[in-house]
Amino acid sequence: MKKILIAGNWKMNKTFVEAGELAEKMKGRLGDITQIDIVICPAFPALSAVYEKIGDTHIRLGAQDVFWEEEGAYTGEVSALMLRESGCKYVIIGHSERRIHSGETDEMVNKKVKKAIEWNLTPIMCVGEKLEERERNKTENVVRRQLEGGLEGLSSENLLKIVIAYEPVWAIGTGKTATPHQANEVHKFIRQLLTNISSEKISQQMRILYGGSVKPDNISALIEEEDIDGALVGGASLVDESFIGIVERCIK
Ligand code: PEP
Repeated sequence: MKKILIAGNWKMNKTFVEAGELAEKMKGRLGDITQIDIVICPAFPALSAVYEKIGDTHIRLGAQDVFWEEEGAYTGEVSALMLRESGCKYVIIGHSERRIHSGETDEMVNKKVKKAIEWNLTPIMCVGEKLEERERNKTENVVRRQLEGGLEGLSSENLLKIVIAYEPVWAIGTGKTATPHQANEVHKFIRQLLTNISSEKISQQMRILYGGSVKPDNISALIEEEDIDGALVGGASLVDESFIGIVERCIK
């Protein structure tokens, strides 16, 4: 039985001090929860502040990116080992904001996913179409390209170490959520692609999260869908009450 996973992506929000304060509040209400997996992903400079608060709880720490090389002259990049030593267990890879603003390609995503696995970090690999791609009926083409490109060369054993997040770009930070049915259609398609790449046994064990304006009042309907195994939450993860509300609805 797959455990639901709720991951909060704080993006470029919360300073070191603010992140510590928010983590403290989350620790108080969520720290003992074991029925679902909870991950929070602050910006790099706040990782240690958050880890200091949640390190001895069931909440896991995640980063928002990783580089594919281990060390060297890569100004501004952060290695998998650095993340491990900061307490991370998860890392978001290929978020649409990185694909759009930093020119991240499927090949780069693939290298990052492989490096994360090598260092025992669970990649949360994001895929999702833009509005104009959905309107041109290209959703499946785009998702297929991103998924197959990002997972290229991975063994079935390694696929089991990955979480996929389907995040339609038009639903991120816009307040527009895909309907549970719309989201589940794409999740079903992703699971079929994962079956084609590996086997049904493997794809059924993999978690596929939905992301895009998830809030306490829409999470229940989303996770009721057969192929939605949790959520990657942006805006609503920045406020303790809304993130806690999402987690509490998943437990119910
Ligand atoms: C995200 O950035 O991964 C995300 C889903 O953002 P939001 O929940 O704000 O749409």
